[in-house]
Amino acid sequence: MARPKKENKVELMGIHEKLLINKFRPDTEIHIKVNLDACLVCKNKECTKFCPSRVFTWSEADDQLLVTYENCLECGACKSGCPYEAIEYKHPSGGYGVGQGI
Ligand code: SF4
Ligand code: SF4
Repeated sequence: MARPKKENKVELMGIHEKLLINKFRPDTEIHIKVNLDACLVCKNKECTKFCPSRVFTWSEADDQLLVTYENCLECGACKSGCPYEAIEYKHPSGGYGVGQGI
């Protein structure tokens, strides 16, 4: 009798479960740079909405955009999502960035 095929654990997961097993190895060099002057005049702060990893948050207290680049999922959306082209994005160096934890 044939043995049942070993199921791929990752393939059976939903997207939210997959995101939970991601591991981040932050690059020593910041891979997302923002022209913060543009953010001061930006009304809608689109980056705080389109980034799936909530890398960008607006601090009312500091009147400044905060960038948690270590959480970036490398989807690339911020290269075209900012209406002021204020975000400079490049992929993390080899061996750094996001990867699967299992
Ligand atoms: S969308 Fe662009 S300009 Fe606006 S807050 Fe975000 S990074 Fe700054
Ligand atoms: S590449 Fe994607 S996950 Fe990373 S900061 Fe830009 S929008 Fe967010």
